[in-house]
Amino acid sequence: MMTLESLKPFFFPKGWTLGTMVMFISFMLGGGYYLVLEMGGTHLAYVHLLYIPIVLAGLLFSVWGGVIAGLVAGLLMGPIMPADIELSIEQPHASWILRALIFAVVGGLSGLGASLFRAYLHELELKRTTDPLSGLLNLTGLKIWYQNYLKTHKPTAMIVIVAELSHMGKIDRALGTDGTSRLIHYTSRQLQNMIDGKSIIANLQTNRFAIIIPHQTDAAEVLKSCESLSSQTYTLNGIPIFIEMRFGVAIYPHDDNDLNELLRKARIALDKGQKEVKRFTHYDKSTDQNPERNLLILNRLTEAIENKALKLAYQPKIAMGSHKTIGVEALVRWEDPVLGFVPPNEFIPLTEETQLINPFTKWLLEESLAQMERWHAQGYPISVAVNFSMKNFNDAGVLSTLDTLLEKHQIPKKKFEIEVTETSVATNIKSVAAILAKLRSKGIKIAIDDFGTGQSTHQYLYELPLDVIKVDQLFTRDITTNPAAAAIVRSAITLGHELQLEVVAEGIETQEQFDLIRLWGCDVGQGYFMSRPLFADDLTTWLETHSVKKKKPGA
Ligand code: C2E
Ligand code: CA
Ligand code: CA
Repeated sequence: MMTLESLKPFFFPKGWTLGTMVMFISFMLGGGYYLVLEMGGTHLAYVHLLYIPIVLAGLLFSVWGGVIAGLVAGLLMGPIMPADIELSIEQPHASWILRALIFAVVGGLSGLGASLFRAYLHELELKRTTDPLSGLLNLTGLKIWYQNYLKTHKPTAMIVIVAELSHMGKIDRALGTDGTSRLIHYTSRQLQNMIDGKSIIANLQTNRFAIIIPHQTDAAEVLKSCESLSSQTYTLNGIPIFIEMRFGVAIYPHDDNDLNELLRKARIALDKGQKEVKRFTHYDKSTDQNPERNLLILNRLTEAIENKALKLAYQPKIAMGSHKTIGVEALVRWEDPVLGFVPPNEFIPLTEETQLINPFTKWLLEESLAQMERWHAQGYPISVAVNFSMKNFNDAGVLSTLDTLLEKHQIPKKKFEIEVTETSVATNIKSVAAILAKLRSKGIKIAIDDFGTGQSTHQYLYELPLDVIKVDQLFTRDITTNPAAAAIVRSAITLGHELQLEVVAEGIETQEQFDLIRLWGCDVGQGYFMSRPLFADDLTTWLETHSVKKKKPGA
């Protein structure tokens, strides 16, 4: 907000108070008085020097400041000041009264000009620091508040919250943009009514707010108000809308000193809370992906893909009946000279957020198909499965690359499998189904990976063209200890068979688990109990003793 304090630097050295400024103007008026007197009266032009303090007073103290300074100057140049001292000529009353009035009008006008200018600056500042829809501070405003607050208060602890209004997509589709705007406006007002004074609220994005609680003693009350807002209903056009909010929390200075970082960390906590369906989630360092490490990973990975420094490990898939290896799953491995071993779960999601996914996919297909051809040429007719997320299809060229490679490497297409995870297909099931259908029409097999962990498991079976389901290792791991896990695996096997699908159980680690899964009629098993993922040469050795059947090369 534009205040007298913030205008001061334009006119006065820093540190001057209001009192100092009044004294300065008075000094100039007094100085003007003595100058006119010493020079011999008001008939000379020196009298006009008084406009300087008058205009300055108007600029600093607005209309009334200017008018008062004008009247004071008028009086100083008034009845007791002669027109000419040497000739002893008095001023006519009308002359000094008119001058005083002109002084007052000039002071008033300069004050008015300054007020209008200040109002304009204030308007600009408001636009820069507030969100037009909610009327709350925006990020810039919040940053200014934060810097000023730290300078003036030196707090020992503050709570920084990022709050998000959930289901905006659905609300927007159901009620339109106008409805969404009204809901956001209502939520902002409620937040202000409930916690203003005890906290600073800002609107960061349409449905995302930042709340800073400067005093820890207010925290319980503010959090309670946030909680109660989250269970309110807002009626729009007669339709009750449930306001659902989630909150990510970071603490100053425990989690960071910098506002950007605190907001980022609160945001990470919020994302975690969304996944875990928790209303309040505190930032947890262990789940934070360090942005600097991410950048380093992306940098090094670009080089690794170019230099073909990535490798594929292959984990055997065993037919539960015959104990023979009927296929392998290709799992990427990356040992970087600087970063050391980086697990695929850490770097694959990063490639998926960047263009790197395209060269990576190309490399994955080239490498796995070339190796598959080698094994087939050696007489091991095993299937090879690669992992894909829907992001792999971002590049329209992927399908044609696949065609070219399938053509180049003489391998039976039905032995090539693509595993897609349930969570990666969740976004747009219709377009996923179309892509998978295209792949299947080429003869490629499709497996749904991590089966049972998604939110619409049965819908996927219903809508996606599939050949294989891979029951998630989360369930396999617990089948001997948790009856629910056992029931899930058993029913997945039955369901898969009803739908004529091959069922694979992954994550088999013990003989006991192996025996049970075999008993339940599962087709294929995969897990450390049988073999860990092996590099190509070791897998070839493994195949010598565990493969289904060794044909003569070229047969
Ligand atoms: P996933 O597709 O579910 O792969 C199975 C993961 O479980 C592999 O971990 C494998 O090493 C591990 N695993 C296999 N058997 C057992 C077992 O008996 N016990 C336990 N505890 N774990 C077992 P990995 O190689 O670390 O891969 C993790 C995930 O990374 C994979 O999960 C997959 O989603 C992803 N990933 C790996 N390679 C690629 C790839 O080339 N492309 C894509 N898009 N994702 C990949
Ligand atoms: Ca997989
Ligand atoms: Ca899996």
